[in-house]
Amino acid sequence: MISLYQLNSKIRDLKPYEPLEGEYRIRLDANESFLSLPTNVMSKMMDAFAYTAFNRYPDPLAVDVCRRFAEYYKIRPEIVTAGNGSDELISVLMTAFLMKGDTVLTLSPDFSMYRFYSSLVEVRCVDVVKKSDLTIDVDELISVSNQTGAKMILFSNPCNPTSVGLTRGQVRKIIRSVSALVVLDEAYMDFWDQSLIQEAEQYDNLVVLRTCSKAFGLAALRLGFAVANKTITAAVRAVKSPYNVNSATQSAAAAVLSYPRLLERAIGKIVNSRIALSQGLQQLLKKKPGRFILYPSCTNFVLIRLADARYVYERLLAKGIAVRLMGDSLRITAGAPEENTELLAALEQLL
Ligand SMILES: *Cc1c(COP(=O)(O)O)cnc(C)c1O
Repeated sequence: MISLYQLNSKIRDLKPYEPLEGEYRIRLDANESFLSLPTNVMSKMMDAFAYTAFNRYPDPLAVDVCRRFAEYYKIRPEIVTAGNGSDELISVLMTAFLMKGDTVLTLSPDFSMYRFYSSLVEVRCVDVVKKSDLTIDVDELISVSNQTGAKMILFSNPCNPTSVGLTRGQVRKIIRSVSALVVLDEAYMDFWDQSLIQEAEQYDNLVVLRTCSKAFGLAALRLGFAVANKTITAAVRAVKSPYNVNSATQSAAAAVLSYPRLLERAIGKIVNSRIALSQGLQQLLKKKPGRFILYPSCTNFVLIRLADARYVYERLLAKGIAVRLMGDSLRITAGAPEENTELLAALEQLL
């Protein structure tokens, strides 16, 4: 029988996002936190869950958790919007803040979801390629933005997957020099100190995105935030789906965010793990000069580039260690100390 219905061309060949499948002893492939929540925080979370009114729709503006988030970062809650992961917010910004045929600027390499969402909204996506050391040519980005009349520039800072970051001054220069809306994805900024979250309100073309999935170790809850001036915030709130963040997530995350000192301590541990991992790789590089390139990281992962990345990736998997293969590079999440040690030993053997 001939089917009259055909999927349209923009979705016909799409495949669902597939994280790495299978059981691995050591998971260093998704930039998650290796820490579990302290038991007192966990029991606070369970209490919050127990008191959730499951027969009612959630608070559409997630007021309580936005207030906790704002307190943690010392900003005003009026400029915070919660999303079902920052992924949802990226999708909302792309679908609502761009019109068909508009130009959006992305950088490469950068977070793969930007291109994915742009492919669904029928916009023109222009890619600015990073330099060979994976830094960004800020002046080039500005001039491409202005030449193409871009309506949005979207990038992660510090960047996933490069682990490299732009300073505050460089990002300010971009924001002030373009007419595009700058969507600044600070998913990893808890591991660095160059955030613009506290000055988000000062610009009429900036949205800062944050997530609870990385530094706060709450990837399972699916919660992210957009921070922007009043006008942009009003628009984001108006276009998002009303009940986007479920009640259990709202109350559980609010409980966790009310322990700022514990969160800081956890971040300190993660940063120490990444420093140890970077140092271990540097030692390895001394033993095997030129064997790979190690990029300077300001995140909770490191990136190394090596000609035989795929071979090393597959050998690591065979040893039960999962990292992320990205072309000719491996992205390795900082893990628990013993996980880092095991990874370094395996790498030394393979290289
Ligand atoms: C992990 C990640 C996110 C995802 O965040 P969720 O809040 O879990 O959707 C967003 N941006 C970048 C660059 C990331 O690496």
